[in-house]
Amino acid sequence: MKRYELFIDGKWCAPSSNEWFETIEPYSGQAWAEIPRATKADADHAVEAAHRAFLSPEWADMSAARRGALLRKLADLVEANADHLGRIEQRDNGKLIAEVSGQVRNVAGWFHYYAGLADKVAGSVVPMPRPDVFNYTKYEPLGVVVAITPWNSPLALNSWKMAPALAAGNTIVIKPSEFTSASLLEFAMLAEEAGFPKGVVNVVTGFGADVGDALVRHPKTAKIAFTGGEIGGRAVNEAAASDFKKVTLELGGKSPNIVFDDADMDQAVRGAVAGIFAATGQTCMAGSRLLLQDSIHDKFIERLVLLAKSARIGDPSKMETEVGPVATRPQFEKILRMIEMAKAEGARCILGGHALSGEGYGQGQFVAPTIFVDVTNEMKIAQQEVFGPVLSIIRFKDEDDAIRIANDVVFGLAAGVWTQNLHRALYCVDRIRAGTVWVNNYRSTSFATPFGGYKRSGLGREGGVEAIKEYLQVKSVWITTKPDRKNPFALG
Ligand code: NAD
Repeated sequence: MKRYELFIDGKWCAPSSNEWFETIEPYSGQAWAEIPRATKADADHAVEAAHRAFLSPEWADMSAARRGALLRKLADLVEANADHLGRIEQRDNGKLIAEVSGQVRNVAGWFHYYAGLADKVAGSVVPMPRPDVFNYTKYEPLGVVVAITPWNSPLALNSWKMAPALAAGNTIVIKPSEFTSASLLEFAMLAEEAGFPKGVVNVVTGFGADVGDALVRHPKTAKIAFTGGEIGGRAVNEAAASDFKKVTLELGGKSPNIVFDDADMDQAVRGAVAGIFAATGQTCMAGSRLLLQDSIHDKFIERLVLLAKSARIGDPSKMETEVGPVATRPQFEKILRMIEMAKAEGARCILGGHALSGEGYGQGQFVAPTIFVDVTNEMKIAQQEVFGPVLSIIRFKDEDDAIRIANDVVFGLAAGVWTQNLHRALYCVDRIRAGTVWVNNYRSTSFATPFGGYKRSGLGREGGVEAIKEYLQVKSVWITTKPDRKNPFALG
């Protein structure tokens, strides 16, 4: 079995605990690698190393163009090793190889994009309301960034943080999920090969409550970029707040996917399936509430069930598989509990609603694609995130009814609108309280545009030009252009 080490200060090292834990392949249930169980001492070591690197002339004096070149080199290495990284990540989190291989190539895209942005961050010359000063602004990095990622897309969600953080001139300590650490440890080997100065990139593995918390609380940590669930997000936010640290949080969602009667039905049915059954529903942006206009409700469901039933469920390492296992045992149990909860509160299950085991289902950590109808928006199944292949279908009358239901939830991560009427689409776009709205598509993301949540779905944005500002602070510089002869006690 492969045994990994921590990557701190440019060196591979054993955890100070000298303890490792096993990482499990969700499909087979087999342990396949050993992950270092880092402690607070390792977290301190990593933040101190990242802080020294931040102040070192090698990094602090490096031109932004040169930082961009290093990021470009890393992007090329990710591209060249995409199959290897994809296979590791797929094995560790059970996602479809078809999706993971595309995602890893996209990771390279994120590094290329922010490599290009590194030397284009400009301050401004500020027109001042007085003639005797020259004022300009300049953007400066924050310091040590701690990136904390969940198990569903470790490499992708790390690149959303690391690419802008390094482009802006920060250094980073990455803490992957305890369920899926291997791909980020493999990725650290590429960061080492790319030639970042020692301490600029560090990877510390272990559990959230000990090593994650220690990284967040370290006095030299300047910013935490977190993706994960509400409990972890709140803990990170509260710990950061007590020390006035900056945070970006990407949390959960209960995103509405709204289909109007004039939608292209083929496209909308495919979009509804992609919204909830892609990635086995284990995605923050899942379209887990399908809002159907009354007049098409029954017809749409017939076609949706037909397509959902055709899903090839099984071994995620096979290119033809369409729905894979649930990534972790606790998540699998949580999904089944929530299915029972939905049944108990009166939602009617018309597809799935149970676990799958037997031949072709590995160790049996599968949940059948599940569809509930007769759901009302007040039900818990319509309000709480499942993070699994469970769809709740809710009826609506018209645009305003759809918007009311769409917004009647604590989350605001994303939404889909399916219509061929431009006015209707824009009416909804303007009124839906979510960070992303897809019109006639669902689940698209790119490095080129910001992603993040309204309401309880998070704080800040990842992606696009906007995201680099999340890793910068602005300095205002005042230069006297004419000596001052006024009373110094009354200067203002
Ligand atoms: P989680 O919150 O349990 O863990 C996420 C990460 O936080 C892990 O690395 C974990 O070790 C760490 N962590 C947990 N508690 C911590 C603490 N007190 N201090 C520091 N670190 C801590 O989430 P998960 O179960 O791995 O992932 C699933 C959740 O992530 C879902 O709820 C989903 O909605 C959310 N998610 C959101 C997005 C998004 O972009 N908004 C993307 C993917 C997943």
